[in-house]
Formats: sequence, C-alpha cells, structure tokens
Amino acid sequence: MRVSKNFELREFTRSATALRLGIVNEPGAEQIENIMALVTDVLQPVREMYNAPLRINSGYRCPELNKAVGGVPTSQHTKGEAADVRVADPRRMFNMIKRSKLPFDQIILYPTFVHISHKRDGENRRNVLFAKGVQP
Ligand SMILES: [Zn+2]
Repeated sequence: MRVSKNFELREFTRSATALRLGIVNEPGAEQIENIMALVTDVLQPVREMYNAPLRINSGYRCPELNKAVGGVPTSQHTKGEAADVRVADPRRMFNMIKRSKLPFDQIILYPTFVHISHKRDGENRRNVLFAKGVQP
C-alpha cells in the first residue's frame, strides 16, 4: 500500500530480524494510522527537503520484535510513531529537520541514521537529542 509519493507501508514493517526469528510484524489499524501520519506530516516533507531517497531501517515493531532488537518497552516504534531513517549524510538531514517547522516529537542523531518520531494525537515536543557517543 502506498502511503505517500515516496513511501510504501511495507517499508515500515519489513525487518530482517523478524524474518530470521519468524516473528509476524503486522501493525493494527491504529498503528497504521500512526505510520501514515508520521509519513504525511514529517517523512514525506523531509524527503522533499533532503531531496534524496530515505531508507527506513526500522519502522513499526510489534512488541515481540521490539524485545528481540533490544528496544525499550515504551518505544514509539511499537506504536507506529517512529522510524529509523538511513541516509548518506544523517547529520545534514538531522540539522535540516531541526531548523524546519515540522511537527516532530523527537529526533535522535545516530552515527548512521536518524530516529524520527511523531504523535498523531497529542503534542509533538520537537525534542532534539543525540545518541550516546555522537557529538552534538
Ligand atoms: Zn528508533
């Protein structure tokens, strides 16, 4: 299913870990709504600003998959509210998002990707964070 010009829903559910462990990583209706809002409100505009393909390393994670990859139980990935986005220059994309007026909840810069989250219901805090070991 196409979510926007540049994103398909399956990009947010595929997982090498899930395949390997036989975990069925299928979002429910509410999680799908959240993924669609994340894409429409944040990721598609970021795609257009950055002007290069965004690779989704990890999007939705069912609780079992989230546990298998060592995610915290409250992870926004389990709600369909977050995606880890890999690009050639994560810091450039991170700074672009930070300077934008986009309604993100959190962005976290990692060495090879940016964690981007968005809440469909509730306040988007625009928290700008750095993963352990990444220079601000
Ligand atoms: Zn993440």
